[in-house]
Amino acid sequence: MALKIEKITKSKIDTVDFNNLKFGQVFTDHMFECDFINGEWQTPKIRPYQPILFEPSSKVFHYGQAVFEGMKAYKDDDDQIWLFRPDQNQKRINISAERLDMPAFPKEYFFEGLTTLLKMDSEWVQKGEGNSLYIRPFIIGTENCVSASTSTDYKFMIICSPVQSYYAGEVRVVFADKFSRAADGGVGFAKAAGNYAASFYPAKLAREKGFQQVVWTDASTHEYLEEAGTMNVFFRVNDTLLTAPTSDRILDGVTRKSIIQLAESLGIKVDVRRVSVTEILAAARKGELLEMFGAGTAAVISPILGFSHKEETFELPKLENSYASVIKKGITDIQTNKAEDKFGWRFKVE
Ligand SMILES: *Cc1c(COP(=O)(O)O)cnc(C)c1O
Repeated sequence: MALKIEKITKSKIDTVDFNNLKFGQVFTDHMFECDFINGEWQTPKIRPYQPILFEPSSKVFHYGQAVFEGMKAYKDDDDQIWLFRPDQNQKRINISAERLDMPAFPKEYFFEGLTTLLKMDSEWVQKGEGNSLYIRPFIIGTENCVSASTSTDYKFMIICSPVQSYYAGEVRVVFADKFSRAADGGVGFAKAAGNYAASFYPAKLAREKGFQQVVWTDASTHEYLEEAGTMNVFFRVNDTLLTAPTSDRILDGVTRKSIIQLAESLGIKVDVRRVSVTEILAAARKGELLEMFGAGTAAVISPILGFSHKEETFELPKLENSYASVIKKGITDIQTNKAEDKFGWRFKVE
């Protein structure tokens, strides 16, 4: 595969304080880029990270054809770089793209671009507890035209940002009883930029009431719990983990499916089925709701300490050896090459 490479003249890595990183604000020396023009993906390029130029009529600004991915690279003690199930992200960006009527990005280009970029910017993947490189592939519609129709041109890019372990602070959530993030037949299963845009306002209202996130419920009845903010959501009732099955409305998270597999291998019972607000309220009242947590690439697992529904609020117990902490360690140990990879999830960057 032809890949054009333009290297930076001098790395900016010396200007970065790796002990004081805000999530997703600093980017590595290079970026990967490929344009779709005249019905074809053109020769992909890696060049210095820099602003890109668009006409104001570029379609993405008007009609929101934009999909993205989020993944991480880790460096082990022997300086080897690893990815976690990147095949899943590669497939998913094309599933998202199809739903927004955007062209699929070829798998060979994705992996060649990604691994070449990671090798060029390998110094930016820091080893040690909690450190990783957050990788953001995305595709946008770039045709210069404001007619409300699918773009003829697109740009695929990968940018990378060094991050430390993601801690959102103490998280308490509101169960949505009015707003929705997704509906049947909609784009909830796609990692589409617009899903995020639509979630910010309800999330702001929740913050104003002292809650950090919204747990989304089904759009028609608000009776079934579906996702926590931009993460999948798990509930532990007694010794069983519950999570909703994926659907039109739910993002098929790589972390979610890895948690299900790992938990089952640890002998934890996992029920993948619709989870109702009524049963979670009942379990909370009986003291049987022991844990709630969000699952996603950025934080792996983000514990939820309490929730509110309508006017009621609940606080969850603080447990030693919670499922959240045991499973999070299990997954991060596999990601960082500290544990045997019995599921074949690690991908060596070479
Ligand atoms: C990205 C995302 C997730 C988590 O997916 P991972 O593959 O685990 O990172 C969950 N829900 C939504 C809405 C998302 O966008």
